[in-house]
This record gives sequence, C-alpha cells and structure tokens, in this order.
Amino acid sequence: MPHRLEFRRYSLPFRSAVRTAHGPWPVREGLIIRTEDEAGRVGYGEAAPIPWFGSETVEEDVAGLVGLGGAVDAGSLQRIDERLGSLRFAVACALGAEQGLLPAVQRLPVASLLPAGKAACAAADQALEAGYVAFKWKVGVLDDADERVILDDLLARLPGHVKLRLDANGAWTTRRAMKWLACCAERPIEFVEQPVAPDAVDALAGLAADYPTTLALDESVAGLPGLRTWLGRGWRGVLVVKPALAGDPASLMALLGKHQPDVVFSSALETSIGRQTALRAAFAYKNTPPRALGFGVGPLFQDERFDAPSPGAFLTPGQASPADAEALWNALN
Ligand code: MG
Repeated sequence: MPHRLEFRRYSLPFRSAVRTAHGPWPVREGLIIRTEDEAGRVGYGEAAPIPWFGSETVEEDVAGLVGLGGAVDAGSLQRIDERLGSLRFAVACALGAEQGLLPAVQRLPVASLLPAGKAACAAADQALEAGYVAFKWKVGVLDDADERVILDDLLARLPGHVKLRLDANGAWTTRRAMKWLACCAERPIEFVEQPVAPDAVDALAGLAADYPTTLALDESVAGLPGLRTWLGRGWRGVLVVKPALAGDPASLMALLGKHQPDVVFSSALETSIGRQTALRAAFAYKNTPPRALGFGVGPLFQDERFDAPSPGAFLTPGQASPADAEALWNALN
C-alpha cells in the first residue's frame, strides 16, 4: 500500500560550531520526511547526512526523494541508491523500522565527549562527578608533545574502572600514528579511533597488526558499503556505527548479526527524530564486550526544540524516548 510522502528541509545552527578535521561546521542541514497511508497513519524519518565525513549531501537526498515521485511503499527502499544511506535511514524510519528493533541490552554507559586540549581535564573532573565511566578525547589538534602531557594528566584523574578512548579523526600521518600507538601501548586506552585518513587502507591494517592498542574505524565506515568492505577485509578492531548514516536499520542489523563485529554506536549529530531510532538500533545489538555509546554530545542546536534530551552517564532503551516528530514537522512549516 503506498504512503504519501512529503519532506521539509531544515538548517539548524549549532550552539557553537563543531570542530572538524576540515574546519568549523556551523550549521546542521538535513531533511524531515513525513509519510501517510490511506488509513491516515503517519510516520516520520530524518535524513541527516554528513558530507565532509563521507556521506552523501542533502541535495543528493532531495534528488533521491524527488525520484520516488511523492509516494513510498515497502519496495521503495530497494530503489534508493545504497550510497544515500541517510535517505534510506529516513524512509525506513518513516515506514516503521523501529518496530523491528527490539532491545537486546538493558543499560549502556554513555561516553562523555571531552573538549580538545587542556580543557579536557576540568571537563573530565565534572563528568566523573556526574557518574560517567567512559570518556572520549579528540587528539591530533595540538602539538603531539603537549597532547601527551595532557593525556597523562587525564589518565591520572581517571579511576581504574573508567575507560578513555582517543579520536584522531584521521589527522595523523602514519609516522605520527606509530609514535602515538607506541605511547598508548603502555597506557590503559580503550581504543584509538581513526588514527589515519580513511584512504590509508594499508596503513590502518598495518597499525592494527603492529600495536597492542585496539583501533577503531569511524570515517572509514561512514555508510553500509564501507562497513561491508571492512568486514570483508576481516577487520578485528572496533567499528564505529552511526545508524543515521548507515541506511535501513534492518539491513544494518542483518550485516552486524552475520559478522558479530565489535561495535560502538554513535550519534551523527541528528535531531531527536533520527536519534530515537539510532538509539534503538544501538540497544538491539548485543556487543561483546559492552561498549559505551557515542551519544554523549548534547545539547547541540541553538533551537533547542530539535535537540534530544542530553543523556546522563547511562541510558536504558526506555530513555530512547519518542521525539515529538509532529511538532518538529510543524515547526519547519
Ligand atoms: Mg570519530
């Protein structure tokens, strides 16, 4: 049965520009789609691509939607190019994808994102106070020597049960990555995320084989095709999965179910509409060992109506509460 399909674009300034390896990112652009079937049942979904990270653009998603001709049904997903992972996610959500995502895990820690540089230490003290047991710190921002001093400062404040992951966002050369990984070998680091750029495929595989610290791929696996490629290569480290970029959640869960990789689920800085399904996907996968969620990022937007509530130190499936999608849709009128 076809569902009538409409969409509205959004352009949401961040509270403060997000710092990326490609410079500041001031405004989050995306789409909210709305479907309605003949019985008047309404569904919503969000396409929140991150082009600089390796996904498609909003314009490509708009073109994909126009190509669907104002109506969708269960077969429409197959007609959307797999490269348009955010659009596939949006359409699947509007058609009720979350109903297939049953919780396999009852509670997960949330990784608190620490600011780059020295400010990380004060932020870590605060987050420890608030009960966080997992932290992520961006590296490759300052001088290596300065960052390593701060790293030891940071580790000195964290109790033994607290985990620290580092994210280089692909900023290191292979040589720099080797020095960092030699340093991490003697320190309790949960994993190092995207040490070198995603196109340095051999370097990534070599670093993973040569150093004891676990490596995680993030930019390398921006969508389902990238995930499939690295699973096919037999990657044994962590994979960071942003469900909002990874297409239809059912296909994502089938791929993960088949290979059982070590996964960290992460936000794509989407609004509360995309967030609820992304979190449901996270709770539907039982990872070994359990890994803290990469959703410790809010509040994000100047217009706080679009923000999901900031998670605390732990989340349960029930806290992945439904967004008021209708209100947000109307706000975009
Ligand atoms: Mg990352």
